[in-house]
Amino acid sequence: MTESSTVSPSLDDTQPVRVDDTGQHPVSPVPVIEIEGVHKIYRTGALEVAALRGVSLTISAGEYVALMGPSGSGKSTLMHILGCLDVPTSGTYRLAGEDVSTMTEVDLADVRNRRIGFVFQQFNLLASLSAWRNVELPLIYAGVDRSARKERALAALDRVGMGDRVEHRPGELSGGQQQRVAVARAVVSDPALVLADEPTGNLDSVSAGEVLDLLAELHDSGRTVVLITHDADVADVASTTFRIRDGQILDNSAATVGSGSR
Ligand code: ADP
Ligand code: MG
Repeated sequence: MTESSTVSPSLDDTQPVRVDDTGQHPVSPVPVIEIEGVHKIYRTGALEVAALRGVSLTISAGEYVALMGPSGSGKSTLMHILGCLDVPTSGTYRLAGEDVSTMTEVDLADVRNRRIGFVFQQFNLLASLSAWRNVELPLIYAGVDRSARKERALAALDRVGMGDRVEHRPGELSGGQQQRVAVARAVVSDPALVLADEPTGNLDSVSAGEVLDLLAELHDSGRTVVLITHDADVADVASTTFRIRDGQILDNSAATVGSGSR
């Protein structure tokens, strides 16, 4: 953002139809994700690793996209960039039409907090907090008041089938249950975009199936879902799969989904 006004104004502006309480996200004509020629070079001492080497990708609102590639191919690097957790070394990223490189740190924090839900392989729950306290965290950062936070956290846990475990701490839950709590945390702020990095990587097949079902529900309710995986069977649940290898998207010509095609 060039002006440091209210939180994330441009993202709101580019999504003229507001999200309603039922979690329906009407499809916006502006692609949610447009990255062009993105390179990411990690420099560690004298060593340089080119983790992304010219990635271009367009994803429209409401798509369910899998990014599939072997370990070390650059998937997590790409997810960090898509989630505004890191920035490209070169290339552009427009999120809901807005060039991320022009946003302030405050804007970016707001985007991460309100517009994007994250699910990680390691769940990333805080061990000392109960399930509902974990789920309410994004709402604390968003400035939601206490009673509304609890209500929304409990409702989110209910939606993922964890309504009877809200006082449990992560250590008292199975991996599959922890990941369901993590999905609840990802969606409690009602984000339009959900990024999941190997969300089933630490789960048995039954729990993995349950988590994939939850992601499918999020997609059905209109959210854009990006699922990162090394597993072709997991990638199959998405409508479109992009394959990534050595920091490049294979079949680059196909790296455009939905109405955002140009
Ligand atoms: P994937 O998620 O597909 O396994 P990553 O994006 O984690 O791949 O990593 C891509 C490449 O970048 C790998 O060679 C990895 O070693 C390197 N890499 C990832 N993160 C860092 C980092 N923070 N510093 C240096 N190199 C990194
Ligand atoms: Mg990874």
